[in-house]
Amino acid sequence: MKLEADVCIVGGGPGGALLGYLLAKQGISTIVLERHTGIDKEFRGEHLNQDGERVLKKYDLYKKVQEAGLLLMERIEYWQHGHVIKTVTPAVADQHVGIHVPQKNLLKVLIRESLPYQNYNLLMGTKVTELFFNQNGNVSGLKAIKGDQDVTIKSKIVVGADGRFSTVRRLAEIPFSTIKHGYDLLWAKIPSPQGWEPTIKNALVNGKQLALFTQEGGFIQIGWNIEEDSYPTLKKQSFAPFIKQVIEVFPELTETVHQHIQSWDDFILLKVQSSRSPIWAKDGVVIMGDAAHTMSPTGAFGINCALLDADALADIIKEAFDNNDISADQLRKIEEIRRAKVEKLQMQQLIKEETYQDNFKIPAIS
Ligand SMILES: Cc1cc2nc3c(=O)[nH]c(=O)nc-3n(C[C@H](O)[C@H](O)[C@H](O)COP(=O)(O)OP(=O)(O)OC[C@H]3O[C@@H](n4cnc5c(N)ncnc54)[C@H](O)[C@@H]3O)c2cc1C
Repeated sequence: MKLEADVCIVGGGPGGALLGYLLAKQGISTIVLERHTGIDKEFRGEHLNQDGERVLKKYDLYKKVQEAGLLLMERIEYWQHGHVIKTVTPAVADQHVGIHVPQKNLLKVLIRESLPYQNYNLLMGTKVTELFFNQNGNVSGLKAIKGDQDVTIKSKIVVGADGRFSTVRRLAEIPFSTIKHGYDLLWAKIPSPQGWEPTIKNALVNGKQLALFTQEGGFIQIGWNIEEDSYPTLKKQSFAPFIKQVIEVFPELTETVHQHIQSWDDFILLKVQSSRSPIWAKDGVVIMGDAAHTMSPTGAFGINCALLDADALADIIKEAFDNNDISADQLRKIEEIRRAKVEKLQMQQLIKEETYQDNFKIPAIS
């Protein structure tokens, strides 16, 4: 298959899907490639904050996502020995302390709104494998595989929105450095008991964060930080004392946890690390979202950052075509707008992680 477009976006996650919509809306011929065949793929964080909400509202997408299903978090609680010791409620101007949006609902809306544009093409189940360079060394398109079929795409700009292990970043030889966070994450999903309110509940277990995120659709996502690289050793130990720690902090979950988390196999391990790239663009290619700056799960900033990147990059790409300037300098305007903000958030994530235990300190009585 041979195709041609002004812009080819690799990755149909939140960042790539929004960018595809925004470019298509502006009349720019756009192809989005996604390696998965469907949108209900592996679990990613699904909490939006005010930044993500603002971007969706700016483009009249929020209501549509709301119709597809989302849930407003009413408060954040800090728990110790079965009791709440601190509660954070929304600021007066906000109605929530975060929004749970199942990623399939967000992606479904972004794709559904994009598809009617004649200048938009979405190729699911299509994995990029190679970048093409012209005689000046500028990226001029890419090669991908869809099933057993080769796909060749000629495009003026390739966007790498392909996440933390970005193939575009690697093929374009864009450097990056990783930041270690000293922990890995265990995830499990359980049904929420009757009457469970939309909250984020935090606890401290062996000095590490154990968090419960209420989810749209009647579920709770458990996120449990464990020492980095400790899971193979942990898995050799007895499971019962490990899971008992959840029940000790959240006694209301006794029955549900016993029913739904019965062995180590009921957890999914996620390796945590963040990264940043010193440059986000070269001639003919630009990276964004997790490909440019992988965020750790702390504070739920990643999707929001990817949506903000897409919003900014859509304007930069539009300007590039209006002024007939698709140089690296033009594309690197995304760095001027976004880099300092993203790197500040990455610092905040590290600080939040280092000071997490302080949330559980009882104030001294004078
Ligand atoms: C455990 C965990 C919890 C998190 N919790 C939150 C949270 O609550 N809130 C939040 O805001 N952020 C959270 N994050 C971060 C968030 O998931 C990411 O920052 C966000 O998904 C980045 O969006 P993206 O579009 O840049 O990349 P991604 O969501 O990673 O999307 C990249 C897409 O590219 C596709 N792709 C990859 N390689 C190729 C290829 N070669 N060819 C074609 N397609 C390809 C992938 O299949 C994927 O669909 C969490 C992250 C983790 C690991």
